[in-house]
Amino acid sequence: MSKGFHFGRVKTRQYTVEYPKLCANSFKPLLKLPLGKYCLTSQSNSRPIELKETSSGIRFVSLEHESGELQLGLITCERSASKKLYITCPYCQTKRQHLYQCKSGYACRTCLKLHYASQSERKKDRLARRIRKLRRAIWGDINDIYNLTESAMYFSKPKYKRWDKFEQEKEKVLELEKQYWQLSEAHLEKLFGNICTYSPSAYVPP
Ligand SMILES: [Zn+2]
Repeated sequence: MSKGFHFGRVKTRQYTVEYPKLCANSFKPLLKLPLGKYCLTSQSNSRPIELKETSSGIRFVSLEHESGELQLGLITCERSASKKLYITCPYCQTKRQHLYQCKSGYACRTCLKLHYASQSERKKDRLARRIRKLRRAIWGDINDIYNLTESAMYFSKPKYKRWDKFEQEKEKVLELEKQYWQLSEAHLEKLFGNICTYSPSAYVPP
C-alpha cells in the first residue's frame, strides 16, 4: 500500500482513548504539600509545575505552556465522605476527574469534543437522563439537581414530603447513581488501562 493511502471509513470523530490524560486523584498529595515547584512525571515524560494558592485559599497547579500559563484548580468535594478531588478545566473551569493532553495544554473532553469509543456510553447517558428526571421530580429545581458529580445523598427533604416516602424515593435515586458511577469507572478503566498517567513528584532543581 502506498504512503498516504488509507482504506476504510474516513475518521470524523476523535476518541478520548487516543489522548494521555491527567487524573484528579493523582493530584491528591498536592493538597498537603507546601506550595512551590514540583514535577508532573510519567514513564516517558516530565513537566515542571508550580503549586500555588488563591487569596481565598484555593490551591491550583500552574503550568507553563506556549499558549500561556495554564491553571488547574484543585477542588475537593467537602460534602462527600471521601473528599473526592476534582481538577478544573483551564478552558471552561468545570470540575473534572480527567483532563486530556492536547495542543493547547490540557482540557476536558467537552472542550476537546472528544467521545468515548464505546456503546456503554449510551447506556450511561440513558441512566443519567433517568437520574436527573427522578431527582427533579423529588427536589424540583434546587442547586446541582442536574449535576451528577454531587450525590443526591446530601439533598435535604422537601418540606411537604412525608419522610417514609422521601426515603423510599431517595433510595431509588441513590441506587441508580451507584450503577451510573460503576459504569463510568469500569468503562474508563477499560479505555485507559494501558496509558500511563501523570503523577506529581518532588521537584528536583536542575
Ligand atoms: Zn473544558
